[in-house]
Amino acid sequence: MTTTSSDGQVGFADLDLAPEIQRALTALGYEEPTPIQQEAIPPLLEGNDLLGQAATGTGKTAAFALPVIQRIAREGKGKGKGPSALVLVPTRELAIQVSEAVHRYGTDLGVRVLPVYGGQPIGRQLRELQRGVDVVVATPGRALDHIARGTLPLGGLRTVVLDEADEMLDMGFAEDIDSILENMPEERQTVLFSATMPSRIDSMARKHLSDPVRVRIEREAPAPGEAPRIRESAYIVGRSQKAAALGRLLDVESPDAAIVFCRTRDQVDQLSETLNGRGYRAEALHGGLSQEQRDRVMGRLRGGTADLLVATDVAARGIDVEHLTHVINYDVPSAPESYVHRIGRVGRAGREGVAITLAEPRESRMLKAIERATGRKVPLEKVPSVADLRARRLELTRAALYESLLEDEDLERFRVVVETLGDEFDVMDVALAAVKLAHESGGAAFDEEEIPELAPRDRDRDRGDRGRDRDRGPRGRRPQRTSPGMTRLFIGAGRSSGVRPQDLVGAIAGETRLSGRDIGAIEIADRFSLVEVPEESADDVVRAMRGANVKGRRAQVRRERDQSR
Ligand code: AMP
Repeated sequence: MTTTSSDGQVGFADLDLAPEIQRALTALGYEEPTPIQQEAIPPLLEGNDLLGQAATGTGKTAAFALPVIQRIAREGKGKGKGPSALVLVPTRELAIQVSEAVHRYGTDLGVRVLPVYGGQPIGRQLRELQRGVDVVVATPGRALDHIARGTLPLGGLRTVVLDEADEMLDMGFAEDIDSILENMPEERQTVLFSATMPSRIDSMARKHLSDPVRVRIEREAPAPGEAPRIRESAYIVGRSQKAAALGRLLDVESPDAAIVFCRTRDQVDQLSETLNGRGYRAEALHGGLSQEQRDRVMGRLRGGTADLLVATDVAARGIDVEHLTHVINYDVPSAPESYVHRIGRVGRAGREGVAITLAEPRESRMLKAIERATGRKVPLEKVPSVADLRARRLELTRAALYESLLEDEDLERFRVVVETLGDEFDVMDVALAAVKLAHESGGAAFDEEEIPELAPRDRDRDRGDRGRDRDRGPRGRRPQRTSPGMTRLFIGAGRSSGVRPQDLVGAIAGETRLSGRDIGAIEIADRFSLVEVPEESADDVVRAMRGANVKGRRAQVRRERDQSR
């Protein structure tokens, strides 16, 4: 297989696509083809079979859909003979997504597409099929039903696509796929896409594809500016502390939308109940739900009335939530492929995604297997401490007040309160009391106890430079007060910008005469960091850091106002 990457030179105009398709792509805001599109579209337009390794998020749907649409436009529709193309997908959700994509790309060419899946009344599908469609996107089971009824004629098929073939095999569709393909015309184009290439996929390809062009796109080599950025981390926690640890991570991370993966249905139910009890808006998704219930759950997640989806792997297959920011593994997935697949749901389109894994000490071996398979270290982090949580809540209060000071034009009517109290108290004390009230109205605090820090069972695990982080006491060990002779500086960049202790040491040592050894305790919160420097150098550091970059960004640097903690 050839590994390909984008040089950014090939545009859609170079791909010999019909003007109607190009217009649709422009309207969708696609500026240039992704690597898989650059590689796959030309051979597909020439009619070759293709074996593609690419995960969701690489643009693979358009990679096969555009040539399908183009062939329909150029070679005419399969009049009266049923659809010209059949796309087989593992889940109903994916069937809908792919159909929507085909519809969007093919609107101007009048391409008719129909999703066909189990759980939907078959009558409607029959009517649509009878009226005539060009592309059918189906789950294998329902496709077979229709083939058996004679309602899905295969005689006019020119292209068949097996999308997410590894998932289809995992779901036990191998035989269904075999019998569908055996019913198809010999003279056809067959396209197989799979995120992974286990030997079962290889043999499937040998059986059904003829001299395929092979294309492989690594997730690590996506389109320029589209690099998936996934911040991965793992936490070692005892079983009894897991729910509390999860709650804490959710508080500190405040995900916009997250999927929490559990191994079993019972766990999904229990955990979503626990989370709802703690005030999160969590929805359970597992195989025990009816299709209507699943639809409702997905609707709530998409509509933003739920923030968290607690799901089993199977139930979450094919689900694509546009704005998903966090994937959380409540247990370590038992296969590295499943880990890769789960976390591939975030970090799309250049947005940063976060993948968090909770592991019991005995599960550390599985983490290692994942690291070996992905070739990336998954850093072990410490569960946020009570102090971290407090700092986070204070930061939220500060941010809310800041916003109010900047934007609220209605502050004047409170002046009388401050002024009358100001006769009796210092205005600073009045402000402090007001902040306290605002802070406390922000919500109750759970888990005011530390969660014990556990070591992985496998002690020879390489902790890398995290050992150094720990000495500096950043996460979870908030220094009570500033060390003697030191001053704490506030730096307006934190964990959410990917700042690590070594970045701060590097930035300060690079801009000032201080060396790493002169720098004291470092704390990194979500949006800011606190760094101890020798008192006599504090002003120099502040001056030198003005305009300097921390992690490629300008960050505010000043003395921390409250040095008493
Ligand atoms: P997929 O891997 O097919 O699930 O596509 C992932 C996302 O990328 C979808 O939201 C597509 O709409 C989007 N996409 C596909 N191709 C392009 C492109 N050339 N430029 C920008 N976005 C794209």
